[in-house]
Amino acid sequence: MKAQTIGIIGGGQLGRMLAMAAARLNLTIIILEPQADCPAAQVANEQIIAAYDDPAALAELASRCDIVTYEFENVPVSAAQTLERSVPVYPPSKALEVAQDRLTEKRFLNDCGIETARFHAVNSQQELEAALADFGGKGVLKTCRMGYDGKGQRVFRSSDDSPAGAYEALGGVPLILESFVAFEREISIIAARAKDGTIRCYDPAENVHRNGILHTSTLPANIPAETAATARAAAEKLLAALDYVGVIGMEFFAMADGTLIANEIAPRVHNSGHWTEAACVISQFEQHMRAVAGLALGDPVRHSDCVMTNLIGDDIMALPEWLATKDVLVHLYGKTEARPGRKMGHVTELKGRKTSSQG
Ligand code: AMP
Repeated sequence: MKAQTIGIIGGGQLGRMLAMAAARLNLTIIILEPQADCPAAQVANEQIIAAYDDPAALAELASRCDIVTYEFENVPVSAAQTLERSVPVYPPSKALEVAQDRLTEKRFLNDCGIETARFHAVNSQQELEAALADFGGKGVLKTCRMGYDGKGQRVFRSSDDSPAGAYEALGGVPLILESFVAFEREISIIAARAKDGTIRCYDPAENVHRNGILHTSTLPANIPAETAATARAAAEKLLAALDYVGVIGMEFFAMADGTLIANEIAPRVHNSGHWTEAACVISQFEQHMRAVAGLALGDPVRHSDCVMTNLIGDDIMALPEWLATKDVLVHLYGKTEARPGRKMGHVTELKGRKTSSQG
């Protein structure tokens, strides 16, 4: 088999875990990332140290790689389009366009027949007040672009919450007001599509957030089988509509009646899929590399129940206890400084694993 070289735009922990999975498949990895000694470059073959939209760096990446992929959704669309003229880019740049703007994303999902919260575009304080009035004074106001981990958001819980000054407070940029969804729980699904259109979905995870950041993912999610099937069907529709290649993460609100409301999509491997490295034979990282490299997709079946917990900031202090706990897979990201809110690593604890020896 000819050795393939894959370029990854972005050098964070997701790139790191992709590069580690790629190594086992004899794939050569080049990381494009401005920060030297980034988490991904520590385990990759090479790093090009340059901005994501640096024309010379993009030309070098295109000339040296057979395929280019990425590990974060805010890769400049223009950079992906430039690359696409000379090298296959997976997932396609269309997926970046859809995922980077919450309005475009919701409209695309709705066009695919996937339900989302109701929403209004908000481009002034006046539009905000009109939109809030339409939703009975309740809603979640978000920046259309560059929001993640709950950043760039304002929640209106009742008509007593005054919207005065809220448009300017979020930076005077294009906003979206979503209707407030009284969900029972949050779930996500990780799915992969190969070039030939084959789709493989992992089991949905149940997610708990703290301060807007994912805290735990638990498998199985406490949802009926029909709800899991609905999540799978939504992922299949979306992947086909985007002519997608690679792994995608889709987050949903699960309602008490079992219905699902899609919240957002991430055209990349996803934090709520980290459990797959411990509880499946083929992790989301290997699945993504298989998909983009044109190799057969792996079986996403789950062999164990599990809980993945993120180690954020000082959570890393509990590392000795995690290391001493049975059936826990520890994964650290090579970051030296533990700042508040910074993802330092994660642990996945397998539940009720069958063992044949007591080593
Ligand atoms: P997001 O950045 O869109 O993932 O939102 C961060 C978190 O805010 C979600 O995981 C939910 O817990 C909450 N949230 C976001 N949108 C809504 C909504 N429309 N209704 C209720 N809660 C929401």
